[in-house]
Amino acid sequence: MYKISYLDRLKSALTNLPSIGEKSAERITFFLLSNREIAEEIINALSDTIKNVQFCKNCHGFSDGEICHICEDTLREKVLCIVEKPEDVILLEKVLGRKWYYHVTGGVISPANNKTPDDLHLKDIPERIKKERILEVVLALPPTVEGDTTGYYIKGLIEQEGLKVKISRISRGIPRGSDLSFQDGQTLKDALMERREL
Ligand SMILES: [Zn+2]
Repeated sequence: MYKISYLDRLKSALTNLPSIGEKSAERITFFLLSNREIAEEIINALSDTIKNVQFCKNCHGFSDGEICHICEDTLREKVLCIVEKPEDVILLEKVLGRKWYYHVTGGVISPANNKTPDDLHLKDIPERIKKERILEVVLALPPTVEGDTTGYYIKGLIEQEGLKVKISRISRGIPRGSDLSFQDGQTLKDALMERREL
């Protein structure tokens, strides 16, 4: 039987990627083997990224250093936008430009998935509001029951500390149960701008 184990190893590694099935993995493997320069660039970019990209200690988004360039930017509006995933920050930054600050929760409260508030980055939100003199908190969490629960929990944390900030959440245009990343830029921007107070 004609078998090259290196090929199988790469193919099976590639099938771990999102949206890559057996057929695609095989196509990519053959493509990389016949385009060695592209393969080398991917190896280097991947290795540098994995080695150097970390999570910001302040907002928990992706960062090149301990604190990310957004947290270090002093010229933004005093609005803290709460999102679930680090990639949501990149998406919103693309849609809104250099406008707000962000906080990544790292998930939503979900008893079914064993996610409690202690597993998420929630406790440091009131601290950030105080320290960074935040005037408004915008909840851009997934429009699901879990996302809502997490939003109300955050509201509770903020009120417990007696902080007087406006708390709102994105409304219009985001269908329930869907992911932020599946929205087109304009829909997402509308949902953010036409937010409702919680
Ligand atoms: Zn940051």
